[in-house]
Amino acid sequence: MAELNAVADLTVEGNIAVLTLNSPPVNALSAPVRDGIAAGLAAVAADDSVQAMVLICAGRTFIAGADITEFGRPPQGASLHTVIETIESFPKPVVAAIHGTALGGGLETALACHWRVAVPSAKLGLPEVKLGLLPGAGGTQRLPRLVGVPQALEMVTTGSMIGAKQAAALGLVDELTPEDELRAHAILYARRVVEEARPLRRVRDLSVTAEPGVFDAFRKTNARKFRGFDAPEFNIRCIEAAATKSFDEGLDVERDLFMQLMNGTQSKAQRHLFFAERAAQKIPDLPAGTQPRPIRRVGVIGAGTMGGGISMNFLSAGFPVTIVETNEAALHRGTGVMRSNYENTAKKGRITQETVERNMGLLTPSLSLDDLADCDLVIEAVFENMAIKKEIFAKLDGIVKQGAILASNTSYLNVDEIAAVTQRPQDVCGMHFFSPANVMRLLEVVRGAKTAPDVLETVLGLARKIGKVAVVAGVCHGFIGNRMLELRQREANKLIEEGAMPWDVDRVITEFGMPMGPFQMADLAGLDIGWSAETSKSETLRDKLCEQNRRGQKTRAGFYDYDEKRTPTPSDLVRDLVLAQSAAKGVTRRAISDDEILQRCTYTMINEGALILEEGMAYRASDIDMVWLTGYGFPAYRGGPMFYADTVGLKHIVETLRKFQAMNAADFKPAPLLERLAAEGKGFNT
Ligand code: NAD
Repeated sequence: MAELNAVADLTVEGNIAVLTLNSPPVNALSAPVRDGIAAGLAAVAADDSVQAMVLICAGRTFIAGADITEFGRPPQGASLHTVIETIESFPKPVVAAIHGTALGGGLETALACHWRVAVPSAKLGLPEVKLGLLPGAGGTQRLPRLVGVPQALEMVTTGSMIGAKQAAALGLVDELTPEDELRAHAILYARRVVEEARPLRRVRDLSVTAEPGVFDAFRKTNARKFRGFDAPEFNIRCIEAAATKSFDEGLDVERDLFMQLMNGTQSKAQRHLFFAERAAQKIPDLPAGTQPRPIRRVGVIGAGTMGGGISMNFLSAGFPVTIVETNEAALHRGTGVMRSNYENTAKKGRITQETVERNMGLLTPSLSLDDLADCDLVIEAVFENMAIKKEIFAKLDGIVKQGAILASNTSYLNVDEIAAVTQRPQDVCGMHFFSPANVMRLLEVVRGAKTAPDVLETVLGLARKIGKVAVVAGVCHGFIGNRMLELRQREANKLIEEGAMPWDVDRVITEFGMPMGPFQMADLAGLDIGWSAETSKSETLRDKLCEQNRRGQKTRAGFYDYDEKRTPTPSDLVRDLVLAQSAAKGVTRRAISDDEILQRCTYTMINEGALILEEGMAYRASDIDMVWLTGYGFPAYRGGPMFYADTVGLKHIVETLRKFQAMNAADFKPAPLLERLAAEGKGFNT
């Protein structure tokens, strides 16, 4: 065996060389890995006794992608293009042996090999689009030559993986091997190629064509999904080039578009979020070696909108859940909604009926808090009312076993105040899920003054198990997300009083890339949250709308009118109410530009984000970006509000806030941190 470098070695078995890469954890295409492949090829080229080569990886996977820590740094070692070109032009057959995942540059490397064998459990894909990129090492040109245009379009624009069996059916994999015998079978395969004297199968030499109109049809079908993103369109253009130009011309198109994406803001934003997700898992002052507490059984109090969704997360991950309500009807209704949610998912083919039954079988409905005694974690999701929450936590303290974690799903309330009614404030934290709780990825973990490190460690680990992104927030009104959202809502309300209409504000915010604007969101949530007919005084626009039973989507009328499909149309009645409201307040309405709407809504949020950072309510700016990405659908291609602020320039934001401050007073006072960073020419992330 010859060691080529620290991560590659070469063995020769008869007339077949086996080049093994071993660069844990995922054999990413770092400079040493690329150099190792180049060295292996050189050694095999020089050895006349070797007639073919197998490229295989040690550890849990084939090459699982580029080494993205190299992005933006000066290139070192052999370039991936050279390595790939050398493999494909190699005069002796090269067989890729794939297990685990062949992703991105890994799959591109495999595509340069003359044949590909894989174990049935292997997965293959080109996920670059998820980082706002495209496969820039020939992937967009080779993939359609093997799997055809429609499949290639699907794979590069979604970035999703396909299994080896499907890959074999599509021609991406030439042979499946038994699960545990990849190496031996790859060698046999290479030997067969030599014995049969097969001509080298270079993917670049295969032809590919496309039905006319296929690209535009694909664009049209996916327009909604791709809205705002550059990368899917650029990926499509590459596949289009593959089908209409020569291989080399196609490569030029690919390289050109790749560089545009790589140097553009969108990919930087998406890469920022990739790292942000990982950074959010790190709590700066958590003692090293903090061990999580074991969680076997979960309790949820309240089977309403949130309690049901929260329970579903745990059931789906296999945790038994006890759910407690105050009365039989509410319990029955809540568990019924959970079942029908699961049934609907099953109808769409995303889970099996057995899974529905398994999940529901893990649920124990109850009317007594006493049944939570044995739970390792209890999450309270009752009405947003401090007195009720305190009463429940005081009771729980006397019921639930010692060492269990007691969490509240409160949206705004003070978690320390809730913790203080127990004898174990160190075991209390906030677990703030977002609606719909079984869908939205965000979990804001609210760290109370006394929350123990191992409680945080446990909750962060659990979040991963149930597929959530946890972001730690400090105790303050609305934590990170809702605290900033309130500011946006305040501006939105002021804007419609000063001259805009609700649909103007919503249009600007959705054009910016948010899934909905503030007034659409209010209609969806229900305008009567926290409103009551008895106390309503016809003061605010909301009072007036609710008094007319315009309570949002559920009553088919709110800021908008809704048809039976819940399609909104601007309402004349609301227009009149808005005008009347301004008149009543003595406000002379004026034309408000889209720029002003966007700036007032987003810059005030960013300003609040700066205050949150300054107060230590978030550990880092990128945590705030994660909250907005995963909790509110902030467009990934803008990287979250704080990253977006950096791209706009903090100096500009401060200047704009001052301009508004002169117009509108205190609401626009720039945060000291924002002013300081702007003065230093810095950003939140730089
Ligand atoms: P909801 O009104 O839909 O559900 C609350 C449920 O709690 C009701 O079914 C009620 O019967 C039950 N309940 C009340 N007192 C109880 C008690 N003593 N014991 C057991 N059950 C009791 O409310 P929701 O929207 O699910 O909100 C619950 C909590 O989650 C609130 O603190 C809210 O601020 C928070 N939250 C809500 C959202 C949202 O979008 N709805 C999002 C995040 C957080």
